[in-house]
Amino acid sequence: MDTLELESNLFVIRESCPCCGSKTNSALYSCKFNEDPVKQYLIDFYSVQGAIEFKYFENQEYDLRGCNNCGLVYQKTILGDFLMGKLYSNWIDPAFTEKVIEKDYDKDYYLSNTRLAYKILTEFKKKPSDLSFLDFGMGWGNWAKTVASFGVNSFGVEISEERIENAKKYGIKNLKLDDLKENSFDFINTDQVFEHISDPKSIIEKLSKSLKKGGILRICVPDGNSIHEKLKVMDWASPKGHKNSLNVVAPLEHINCFTTTSLIDLAKNSGLQWHYLNYYPALELIENKASLLNEIKIATMLPIKIIKYFGRIVKIKLGMKYTPVPTGTNLYFKKT
Ligand SMILES: [Zn+2]
Repeated sequence: MDTLELESNLFVIRESCPCCGSKTNSALYSCKFNEDPVKQYLIDFYSVQGAIEFKYFENQEYDLRGCNNCGLVYQKTILGDFLMGKLYSNWIDPAFTEKVIEKDYDKDYYLSNTRLAYKILTEFKKKPSDLSFLDFGMGWGNWAKTVASFGVNSFGVEISEERIENAKKYGIKNLKLDDLKENSFDFINTDQVFEHISDPKSIIEKLSKSLKKGGILRICVPDGNSIHEKLKVMDWASPKGHKNSLNVVAPLEHINCFTTTSLIDLAKNSGLQWHYLNYYPALELIENKASLLNEIKIATMLPIKIIKYFGRIVKIKLGMKYTPVPTGTNLYFKKT
């Protein structure tokens, strides 16, 4: 491909909502990529892990829209394939993220992965060796590795060669999106993926098809439920984790910002229903007093929590159906 051809596709303009297809939206904020405050945000954000090449951003604008139909907040102008490649291979240095991950991921991280894997396995009546799980956007393969250790047939989809090679060392089979066969997986994990992809609608449709009937899809994305409050404050200098942080709509990367309802809508349109994981650690832990004490410690952090927590267990013990209202943006969906 020659340079001219590449440059004509540097950016993609999303004229309609990438989740529901609606063309009616509200303009929430705009700023040229190479003007402050967005420019300064990009410099600060990428200087620790690589660098942005601003020569590509001439006259292009960070343009934030809110879908009037499903509530998704999304960036209208996004990077085309060539610049997406630059972003994830050059502007973010893979060697740097690998180092950071190796440094930061401690035993508690692996314990939480293990707990999550166990929690999901209790949803299925089959032996782990009869189950197939897929981690879509598996990164370095940490989650896929964890479920493989339970004996599950573990697959991943990943585009970065460095990450694929790393996952291979642990026996994780890498698949391409277009090679996913219908009715193949019992469970599909997507963790911090849907906020990055240009066309979430077509991706969820493909993933839904590749799930078996009764299979479960997990979507975990940054929580965009309070995005409109954050946009009122509009503080680009607020660090990640701060209540005013705009990281949830980070230019170039977090191009889709989900609320609970926009996520449920997206899934529903692909034949997936919101599903509550029916798992109560305390029931399992009665035989394990040390862990039970830890669970009680968590449950008693707020008095109301302990009432709700044990109330749920009592309901389950009595065979009553517990149907909470879905909140947050770490949700599970079942193919019915
Ligand atoms: Zn929409």
